[in-house]
Amino acid sequence: MSAMVPYISKLPNVQTTIFTTVGNLARTHGAIDLSQGFPNFEADPQLISLVSKAMREGHNQYAPMHGYYGLRAAISKKIYNQHNHLYDVEKEITVTVGATQAIFTAITAFIRPGDEVIVIKPAYDCYEPAIEVNGGIPVPLQLNKNGYIIDWDVFKQKITPRTKMVIINTPHNPSGRIFTKKDMLTLQEILKPTNIILLSDEVYEHIVFDGQQHESACRFHDLVQRSIVCASFGKTFHVTGWKIGYCAAPAKLMQEFRKTHQFAVFCVDHPKQRALSTYLNSEENYLKLNSFYEQKRNYFLKGLSGTNFKFTPTEGTYFQLLDYSNISDEGDEGFAKRLITEHGVACIPISSFNMKHRDDKMLRFCFAKKKETLSKALEILSRF
Ligand code: PMP
Ligand code: GLN
Repeated sequence: MSAMVPYISKLPNVQTTIFTTVGNLARTHGAIDLSQGFPNFEADPQLISLVSKAMREGHNQYAPMHGYYGLRAAISKKIYNQHNHLYDVEKEITVTVGATQAIFTAITAFIRPGDEVIVIKPAYDCYEPAIEVNGGIPVPLQLNKNGYIIDWDVFKQKITPRTKMVIINTPHNPSGRIFTKKDMLTLQEILKPTNIILLSDEVYEHIVFDGQQHESACRFHDLVQRSIVCASFGKTFHVTGWKIGYCAAPAKLMQEFRKTHQFAVFCVDHPKQRALSTYLNSEENYLKLNSFYEQKRNYFLKGLSGTNFKFTPTEGTYFQLLDYSNISDEGDEGFAKRLITEHGVACIPISSFNMKHRDDKMLRFCFAKKKETLSKALEILSRF
């Protein structure tokens, strides 16, 4: 009989992610799934054929460690056209296994035991475990549901001599808020006298509404010098299952990032890199995303207009938060569970993204779905 090998967990408080838990429940009950953030429509067939073409042409062995040159060049050109900052193709861009690996690698490369990392809450769930598994200390800054607006004076108070990194996410999952130019300039001023690294999660960079501008960290002269910008093709090209993204940073930071990257994954799916390098050359392929998702947001919100859900239209991302406090006093996990089991619609309870699981009676719905899926969900939600 073999006894269990004893060990002390490095992440004693971490459980299976809310996306897996809710997704499984949704499947069991056959609910309409607006929980995990992924589209239920197909990617452009041209992109798919470009992958098979790359495979047929024999690009089936390891890609270079930091990414296929053609893709890095296309990324650099895209960033320059969008934000007027030129990243060096050789030294400043690395292709990653989605943004998750870019984020994990960046944290692992720079965070030592005892280092503090400021995390703005609610936060996407991969940041804090990555900090903790490296011995770092997440320092949360909780925003209020009344607008999810950051108070930069409070932010400033979170900085200590041990602060090594700040993580921002704009457009923001789950609130759908975006940082304005003024926010970014303020952040730039606050960080100027420090050696703090900025990890800027920009996976929803191409999903911004109402004519607003995505304010990438790379648009700001001083900020860009300390920033590691992470992005995801999964979000931009409706291929979340491909797990491919990239990160961009000044050469010195990138050199350090790559030391970890090469031993975490070495390199990323080669045929997909070839395909994306061609596909990225047409700006239209990503610039059309804003209006595509804006229409979906508007359709979803129109269907909710007569209900007792309260909401502020999301400014970016493909998520919409709904406040159900006019409908029920129940906790958000319980309410979300009943929404699945009794009504047949799945969403994410926001307490799982909040500091100490604070329950604000907010739910996150993903509207990256076919019109008929949204329409079926609205039929149910409009009863509330
Ligand atoms: N950051 C945020 C804010 C996200 O919502 C997600 C989910 N896509 C990721 C990072 C991870 O992106 P990827 O799927 O490319 O790993
Ligand atoms: N980013 C996606 C979301 O926020 C989920 C990705 C995941 O399941 N980890 O829904």
